Amino acid sequence: MGIEFLEQKFQRYISICPHNREYLRATALRVSRIQTEMRILLDDITQQWCPMCKAPCCQCLPVDGWFTECDYFLFRMLYPAPVDLRAVGHDGKSCFFLGERGCRLPSDMRPFPCVKVNCKNVIEELKRYGRLDAFTALNNELEQLQEKVYPLLADIVSYTVFQAQNYEPPVST
Ligand code: SF4
Ligand code: SF4
Repeated sequence: MGIEFLEQKFQRYISICPHNREYLRATALRVSRIQTEMRILLDDITQQWCPMCKAPCCQCLPVDGWFTECDYFLFRMLYPAPVDLRAVGHDGKSCFFLGERGCRLPSDMRPFPCVKVNCKNVIEELKRYGRLDAFTALNNELEQLQEKVYPLLADIVSYTVFQAQNYEPPVST
């Protein structure tokens, strides 16, 4: 989903549900802490493996990151819309946030699909360093937080529901 579209949804959501803002912000701070701990476990591994990868995961589709509404809304609790973080001189096939030195998004608040490692090499290395259990525990924590946010968004991200919420019944005469 493009950032501009997600941003429209986010602005709409916050105007309709300002009462959820505090909860989303508290959740975003927890996500930031978890992702920071994940990076400590991952950084030396990805720095070693990713430069020589034959099918780099950030170069497989020209997406605006792998943001869902859930992780975009949480991102926006801590950071401005990342429109200016798109890499200049895009190659037409990579994620728009992939710069010369890797992902240009803040390292503590990337889209969840980007931090849930699905890469065999990285998993093997986490295992070899004895870090896989710690990483899995953080990943589970992240998923649990996500699951608590989904119900807050479920009824509001659908366009039909937006329309329904704005609907004003005709005044009977
Ligand atoms: S995480 Fe895995 S798939 Fe992605 S670039 Fe690194 S080595 Fe390649
Ligand atoms: S980690 Fe960053 S560059 Fe890679 S796909 Fe995710 S948002 Fe894009």
